[in-house]
Amino acid sequence: MTADPNCIFCKIVEGKIPSRKVHEDDEILVFHDIQPWAPVHFLMIPKAHIPSLAHIGPQHEGLMGRMLALAPRLALQEGCGPYPEGGHRVVINTGAEGGQEVHHLHVHVMGGPRPWLKG
Ligand code: 5GP
Ligand code: ZN
Repeated sequence: MTADPNCIFCKIVEGKIPSRKVHEDDEILVFHDIQPWAPVHFLMIPKAHIPSLAHIGPQHEGLMGRMLALAPRLALQEGCGPYPEGGHRVVINTGAEGGQEVHHLHVHVMGGPRPWLKG
């Protein structure tokens, strides 16, 4: 899937909207959430426009595996404490009832000392 011209996260991928980048490679972009719920809160997205987790098929297993494997490494890099005292939360909101507001697949990674704003 290519970029969706109306998608805010595609615009971030294209650099049309600025973001505070955490990581970038051929297929994945990671940037800080603009309204963080926790001391550390970043979003991991595929560069390709995939609307949600509900759109994931067998062809995406490698991508999803790489995103999930990257999460704990970037969490530590961004200041989350090490497991088990530290740690982090990984969330993928999917669809309206799942609380998804931006319809470009994204993985929330949150962590840092409590209390958090939400969660
Ligand atoms: P959702 O509710 O769809 O799971 O989460 C969307 C997230 O994207 C929210 O946490 C929101 O703060 C974040 N967000 C929305 N627009 C922007 C933006 O323009 N830049 C950044 N960095 N984050 C955004
Ligand atoms: Zn998009």
